[in-house]
Amino acid sequence: MGLSQQAPHFANAPHFAIAIDGPAASGKSTIAKHLARRLGLVMVNSGAMYRAVTWKVLELGINPDDHTAVVQALQAMNIECGTAGNFSTIAIDGRLLDEELRGTEVNLAVSRVAAVPEVRSLLVQLQRDYLQHTSLVMEGRDICSVVFPDTPFKIYVDASEEVRAARRSAEGVTDSVAARDKADSNRTTAPLIVADGAIVLDNSDHTVASAVEAALDILRSQGLSHEDSGDA
Ligand code: C5P
Repeated sequence: MGLSQQAPHFANAPHFAIAIDGPAASGKSTIAKHLARRLGLVMVNSGAMYRAVTWKVLELGINPDDHTAVVQALQAMNIECGTAGNFSTIAIDGRLLDEELRGTEVNLAVSRVAAVPEVRSLLVQLQRDYLQHTSLVMEGRDICSVVFPDTPFKIYVDASEEVRAARRSAEGVTDSVAARDKADSNRTTAPLIVADGAIVLDNSDHTVASAVEAALDILRSQGLSHEDSGDA
């Protein structure tokens, strides 16, 4: 599925968005994935979009702190967002990106590229475009605050720093979770915050199943009446 460059007006869109924000390794992707399956929605991983632009910047040998060069490279990129089954996909210049987005180099550079306002405004546009095609669960850092501020369905997934660092090292990935969170929370454009209307889900001690139930309870309290398929 190709997506156009036009932004939808949320109130007039035929589809709805469930917005999930939270710090790195809080478990928000896992919760979003299960919610999407339970509710029959597409799961959009917005972090993969920032990671994809970062991967391309590094591939081109550009210093992620060189704002001008990053913006120039961004303008030359052909970014294609789509779906495969119930998941979002991203390709840059014809290359579908997946595993390469989770490497150490991308982990270390992504927050710097994601702080560039031009990168954010282009990707926010592409994120909103999904709603023209489908109802969705989207997870990231600014989905409740910036991408879909008008949706009533907003969750902020949190977990203790220890739990989050342990999750990442169990995955065998080098990732400075604390440094990334600090950068994401302190940047000028669209910092990670608990947005107005978002309900915090503390995922430090949940199992996946109990976290998904807690998320469904929050969404029902926010008025979601969408049919639950009951699939795990
Ligand atoms: O979600 P994930 O950990 O893959 O996101 C990678 C990085 O992308 C974050 O640390 C953040 O810098 C950036 N990001 C963002 N806004 C989003 C999603 C991700 O700035 N909505």
